[in-house]
Amino acid sequence: MAKAWLALGANMGDAKAQIESAICHIAQHVNIEISKKSKMIISKAWGNTEQSDFHNIVIEIATEIEPKELLKICQEIENRLGRIRGEKWGPRIIDIDIIAYDRFEIATDFLTLPHPYAHERDFVINLLRGISPLTAEWVIKLAKQS
Ligand code: AMP
Repeated sequence: MAKAWLALGANMGDAKAQIESAICHIAQHVNIEISKKSKMIISKAWGNTEQSDFHNIVIEIATEIEPKELLKICQEIENRLGRIRGEKWGPRIIDIDIIAYDRFEIATDFLTLPHPYAHERDFVINLLRGISPLTAEWVIKLAKQS
């Protein structure tokens, strides 16, 4: 079974409820088991700072679904919760990013692992460190090498 770490964020509507709903959708997937959950935090918007604060959480999952398929599942859940893809780094009903998938390193148009901005987002690294310190250190180490 592979382990993967997903970061969920939201800053529109009832952000906390949307994150909880996204986690329920993920947990309901027959081939995904949620093994750990970080605490939920509120953080300042990153990239485009002229918007509401975000609620954020990082979860660890165990799955046999391969990374590209996992990303599609995450995007389907975003769509089901009503996400409309607008401006990059703009406000969002729900965002689900794959921060890391085991120790895979992938760089395609569709999927980059570890997530290309994870190491720049302190809240992601801090939440990840809380549930998988070794993965957080690995993400930072790779970023420093590149
Ligand atoms: P976002 O706006 O954060 O949902 O990201 C938009 C795009 O990032 C999507 O089209 C994904 O294909 C791409 N992407 C690349 N790597 C990742 C990743 N590790 N997790 C989530 N999305 C990714």
